[in-house]
Amino acid sequence: MQVIHDPEAFRHACQQLRQRGRLGFVPTMGALHAGHLQLVRFAGQQASSVAVSIFVNPTQFGPGEDLASYPRTLEADCAACEQAGAALVFAPSPAQMYLPGERTRVRVTALTETLCGATRPGHFDGVCTVVSKLLLLTGECVAVFGRKDFQQWKVVQRMARDLFLPVEILGHPIVREADGLAMSSRNRYLSAAERTSALGLVRGLNAAQAAYAAGEREPGVLQALCAAAIADAGLRIQYVQLVDSEQLQPLSTLPGNVPAVLAVAAHAGATRLIDNRELGEAE
Ligand code: AMP
Repeated sequence: MQVIHDPEAFRHACQQLRQRGRLGFVPTMGALHAGHLQLVRFAGQQASSVAVSIFVNPTQFGPGEDLASYPRTLEADCAACEQAGAALVFAPSPAQMYLPGERTRVRVTALTETLCGATRPGHFDGVCTVVSKLLLLTGECVAVFGRKDFQQWKVVQRMARDLFLPVEILGHPIVREADGLAMSSRNRYLSAAERTSALGLVRGLNAAQAAYAAGEREPGVLQALCAAAIADAGLRIQYVQLVDSEQLQPLSTLPGNVPAVLAVAAHAGATRLIDNRELGEAE
């Protein structure tokens, strides 16, 4: 497995790999866990070779967020990528991804104005900008994103379509710990008590899904059931919102044929956690 830091060298290495067949690409911020590695293996099933990027993207963090303290574990990440079958790791520095005097941002409208976009101003501009750069360097590929970041997946999919990027964007199901907590690089921040509280997210989503399965279709009721379980666990709720799965707009009714996702964000202590459940679909 090659580890490359220079963007043009990465572009060239991707061109080389594409000569063997389809190229898979998994963008990450590192601090890799078993969920990331499932995405890498999944990409390997869709493609002849897989490239992984590891880059803690400064432009997607807001003031007061955890950019400085975000875990950076490049050596262990590279070993894990190799184990998972990656052919290439791209690990640029911020100065290599954002050239002196850079003035370009990529913005997707509407889909980015709800959920995490409403509470993290500028976050998706940072995500879209860095993902555009990464996809343009990678070139034609199948890129895999996690449905844990459901909004990010949908925003990137829309961006790639709107910009005619030569990529297919796939969404991998959420990978969970044995007790149901969605895996996240930020879970390592949790104290033992916060780790227990964090299960409120999955309990809330389970409660809403059970009500949905029993025929409940009132968005306010489903959201309230979910929020109650999250609050009971001692988490500080940022949002509990049922949205349609394509435009990501809040739903005031839930017609049977509209795919919907119940998305949640809450803090356990200082750590912000997100999760979601696509209603009507078994996970
Ligand atoms: P991150 O390093 O957190 O930016 O995540 C990199 C990619 O892995 C994103 O597409 C995430 O959605 C995905 N990912 C992270 N955690 C999970 C998980 N528990 N299940 C599925 N995908 C995940």
